[in-house]
Amino acid sequence: MQNNKLCEIAEILKKYNNFIISSHVHLDGDALGSEIGLYLMLRQLGKDVRVINQDKTPDIYQFLPCIEEIACTEKLDEEYFFDIKPKTILIVLDSSNLDRIGKIHIDIKQIDFIVNIDHHPSNTFYGKYNYINPHASSVGEILYGLGKQMGCILNKQMAISLYTAIVTDTGSFRYANTKASTFQIALDLVKLGVNPSRLTDYIYNNNKLSSLKILGEALRKIKIDSSSRISWTIVTRDMLIETKSKDEEIEGIVDKILSLKKVKVSAFFRETKDGYIKVSFRSKGEFNVDQFARMFGGGGHPNAAGCSVKGTIKETTKLIISKLQTELDN
Ligand code: AMP
Ligand code: MN
Ligand code: MN
Repeated sequence: MQNNKLCEIAEILKKYNNFIISSHVHLDGDALGSEIGLYLMLRQLGKDVRVINQDKTPDIYQFLPCIEEIACTEKLDEEYFFDIKPKTILIVLDSSNLDRIGKIHIDIKQIDFIVNIDHHPSNTFYGKYNYINPHASSVGEILYGLGKQMGCILNKQMAISLYTAIVTDTGSFRYANTKASTFQIALDLVKLGVNPSRLTDYIYNNNKLSSLKILGEALRKIKIDSSSRISWTIVTRDMLIETKSKDEEIEGIVDKILSLKKVKVSAFFRETKDGYIKVSFRSKGEFNVDQFARMFGGGGHPNAAGCSVKGTIKETTKLIISKLQTELDN
């Protein structure tokens, strides 16, 4: 297990010429903003770069620069492999382990090596070179420093991408991962031309009617435990069909139900297309949901984590809520 210095990562990226960038399944603002930020920086340095993800880009992130240049492998058949030039480096962002990138249809044997850049405390150091900083609010914050170390001249497009990464992973500068350095970087990005109000309008004021309908249905099903410390709710495939909403439209429900007075932990259970139950956890203060999610093969950050469980939504909810109750009592 080796954690490299950021300047070492900068030196390696400067030395090589061919890159593939990828990030985790269920793309979020940090994954996409960081990918595009780094894509633009490496392109500015004259490199050959491709961004390849398993999942399709959610509609709300279509405003990001160069978004149409991202390849998605969701609909490719199992046999398909992307062409890989000799001496290609795979850079994986915001992913605590390599399985998190899903199937991106590249032959890993043709890759020279992996560079792993992340801020999850549970990162498994799967790269030949790793830069893991659990104190960083987001990978976007790390890449701001990396860009400077590589000698990039940060421009407005890069700033929009990195600001998106930071604003989404900090819950608009509200979560405990928001530090003085986060604001300092954000200030610089605004000076480079980011319009904070216009940018967050794209992300947060761009809901479809179906998104609010599925939120309404999920809120109707909200439950709290007898001590009012845990809130939870569910979204089934049937609920998605009835409200005509897509999977990507249900991000954020877990944060809404955490807003209840007294509640310390919230859990959100959803049926996925492939027969799993994806569980998202959020907490206020001390309760560490990263540690909790690891008991179920997942992980994340102290106040935001998740896991995927095989089972029915009813069984999974019962199991996880009773385990949460036990943990909170300890
Ligand atoms: P989410 O609830 O999907 O918004 O995820 C919250 C945080 O937990 C993010 O930092 C994710 O990367 C992490 N996370 C979610 N699901 C998993 C999982 N199955 N394994 C590891 N980390 C996860
Ligand atoms: Mn992420
Ligand atoms: Mn992140």
